[in-house]
Amino acid sequence: MGSVARGGVEAREELQLLDLFPLVHHEEQEGEVVVHQEEQETEPDKAAAVQEAGAIVPVEAPAMAAPAPAHADKMRPVLVDKARFSCSLCSGFLKRPIYQCAAGHMVCCSCRFKFRGNGCRRCCDRGVVSAYTICPGLGYFFGGLQVPCPNEPYGCKTYSPYFKADDHERACEHAPCRCAEQGCGFAGSPPALLAHLTGDHFWAAHEMPGFGASLTLRVPGLPASAAQDRLLFVVEEEEGDRRVVFVLCVRSRGEGGAAVSVACVRANAEAGPQYMCELWAQAPAPPGSPEGVARRVGIETDVASCAAPPGEAAVEEGSWLWLDVAPEMMHGTGASKVMQLSILIDKL
Ligand SMILES: [Zn+2]
Ligand SMILES: [Zn+2]
Ligand SMILES: [Zn+2]
Ligand SMILES: [Zn+2]
Repeated sequence: MGSVARGGVEAREELQLLDLFPLVHHEEQEGEVVVHQEEQETEPDKAAAVQEAGAIVPVEAPAMAAPAPAHADKMRPVLVDKARFSCSLCSGFLKRPIYQCAAGHMVCCSCRFKFRGNGCRRCCDRGVVSAYTICPGLGYFFGGLQVPCPNEPYGCKTYSPYFKADDHERACEHAPCRCAEQGCGFAGSPPALLAHLTGDHFWAAHEMPGFGASLTLRVPGLPASAAQDRLLFVVEEEEGDRRVVFVLCVRSRGEGGAAVSVACVRANAEAGPQYMCELWAQAPAPPGSPEGVARRVGIETDVASCAAPPGEAAVEEGSWLWLDVAPEMMHGTGASKVMQLSILIDKL
């Protein structure tokens, strides 16, 4: 590849990654930027951006063989310094089309157009002038890579195509949550954290009857002061054996009152299903009144996510609703005050 050869010794050092794999030969004409046919089809906005930037884009770009399918018997594991397959400016995954300067600095297309001019900023920092060009060969090369999920230590066995790796990372259900108990550094996927909190810190966990079905229980009317008072809820997915973990957040409010909310224990809040929760508190029946006349107060709200339960902070930060449980809604007196809560969690 011309752009690699131009970089000399330094470029060869910087591009050891490329030495590990044969790259598709690409004829690059002097001063002309060639856009991969597939890239023109799949990323028309990027191609338009290239034209706006003054690059020459042939109407009929030469066709390039599609990346070989990722058959397991043709794949080889390779250890690579992450910096060698990331954008040299934002350190994120590269996106097609990939731009490269003569010294081999690669940038993703969003970084390429975030800054004015076509000069490589990494070279500029070292007092060298170098311009970016589109490198279809790198797009072809990276298109054949399968990247392991960084949550592999937490149980994720997924390998994603390089250009979709960040999509998986955002949605990975194994992303670690942390134990917020003082002095404990445990981190693990939500199911692992559930096992840790119940096994090592003796948190109580209630199995919910399923999404859309309610559970009624009595919980202490004061914010949990001891680990034993923490409450978790586990909802089993109907399909598969996935278990979703929720935590009950309680804080004191007013003279003997409390506020209650629910948060989903997960680290990737923006991915995956969103949840809603119905929370009802039932007051004690007035003395001498017939059964069933007790007052109830409730809310229906979307559910916050928290990566470090108990999650009061997560619920506090967002615009999430809390159920106010007034002192007269409490059952019992003093330290033995409890709330009678009905909880229903469903998918939005
Ligand atoms: Zn970037
Ligand atoms: Zn450079
Ligand atoms: Zn994963
Ligand atoms: Zn812990």
